[in-house]
Amino acid sequence: MAMTIDADACTACGTCEDDCPNGAIRMKGDTCIINAALCNECDGFADEPRCLMGCPADAILPA
Ligand code: SF4
Ligand code: SF4
Repeated sequence: MAMTIDADACTACGTCEDDCPNGAIRMKGDTCIINAALCNECDGFADEPRCLMGCPADAILPA
């Protein structure tokens, strides 16, 4: 299951794009999008989803 983005809360800071180990996040306009096919919830990289833990706007929603 992939994380999802609350586009209304996202400030387009780019932190999650930089933090994603799988290249699953990219910026698009004033928000970002997650490629569900690439997101593996950071399995093998971190104990918790990096984007979820690092978003300063709490705009990442758990799967
Ligand atoms: S870290 Fe949060 S606020 Fe920043 S681009 Fe990602 S979802 Fe948006
Ligand atoms: S949970 Fe991990 S793999 Fe999935 S989008 Fe967030 S940082 Fe990338």
